[in-house]
Amino acid sequence: MRVLGAGLVVIGALAAGCGGVGTDTTVAKPKVDTAAATRQAKAAKVAAAAKVKANELGQIPVIMFHRVVDKPTTQDDRTPAQFRSDLERLAKDGYVPVSAAEYTTGKIDIPAGKHAVVLTFDDSSPSQLTLDELGQPKQGTAVQILQDVAKRNPGFRAAATFYVTRDMFGKTAPEEQAQMLLWLKQNGFDIGNHTRDHHSLSGKPQKAVVDEIAAGQKLVTALDGAPPVTLALPYGNQPRKKDWARSGKSGDVAYNHAGVFLAGYTPAPAPYNKNFDPLGIPRIRAMDKKGDCAQFCSTAWLDWLNQNADQRYTSDGDPTTVAYPKFKAPFLRKDFTARALPY
Ligand SMILES: [Zn+2]
Repeated sequence: MRVLGAGLVVIGALAAGCGGVGTDTTVAKPKVDTAAATRQAKAAKVAAAAKVKANELGQIPVIMFHRVVDKPTTQDDRTPAQFRSDLERLAKDGYVPVSAAEYTTGKIDIPAGKHAVVLTFDDSSPSQLTLDELGQPKQGTAVQILQDVAKRNPGFRAAATFYVTRDMFGKTAPEEQAQMLLWLKQNGFDIGNHTRDHHSLSGKPQKAVVDEIAAGQKLVTALDGAPPVTLALPYGNQPRKKDWARSGKSGDVAYNHAGVFLAGYTPAPAPYNKNFDPLGIPRIRAMDKKGDCAQFCSTAWLDWLNQNADQRYTSDGDPTTVAYPKFKAPFLRKDFTARALPY
């Protein structure tokens, strides 16, 4: 749609350029017309970005979910009803989910005026995904609710990242484990590394850290072939050297993550912003405004982002550009200079 839109702008500009030459249409001036068309197309993009107050250097909430169960037993659990209302609120507030892989690699493709959100699910519990023998997600599981909310709210994508461990949605047979990852892939979901055994990596020697992360990658690749793009640190604990989580090699397994996620407790910078640190990307726990979540969990932060809309990531609708108010230029990451669209 957006590519077509841009194409139409170019055609329109060409037509206008030809008209300007006069009634004699036998002489073509392709070079001049192309330059004019490019300028006009850029001007149209700038105008469109300004119109929706695009801010692709703004902040993105990365929300961390764990189990979705009827009777929560920990601070991390959501009930199915709470989880549904979490998602409905995001849809109502104009958010569109992107995966952790899309976010960390700067491939955010959402409509103009919409805000990116990343939904992450840790620890691969059956409450996130349980399938019947026809491959239908069980009622009340996180995936079923997410797909249902996406269906009821056009434009809200059922996109999310699942940080899996050896628990693998409660499945033990390798074929059944492979089925779960296959289903997630076939349905457009992203699979992330959460290490195999979910031990804290804090204070461990490099070899132990690298072995655990490599084992997490192997767990996934042995079942479905594709190495995870991102890692979520167990308990959000960073190893002694942050970079050990990003890349390493253990035996014949080498990993190289585009991003490493923490557990707390603020919105994250856009991947195009200089403040983006791929070695420690903050996430926000999904929880109401109460107790220690009065300020630093999802409800509180989503309220804050509504009240401070100028700080929030807002798309210009064109995945090939990075649009922002021009005074923010000093915050643009060098890697994205070629895509810059200041207005
Ligand atoms: Zn975990």
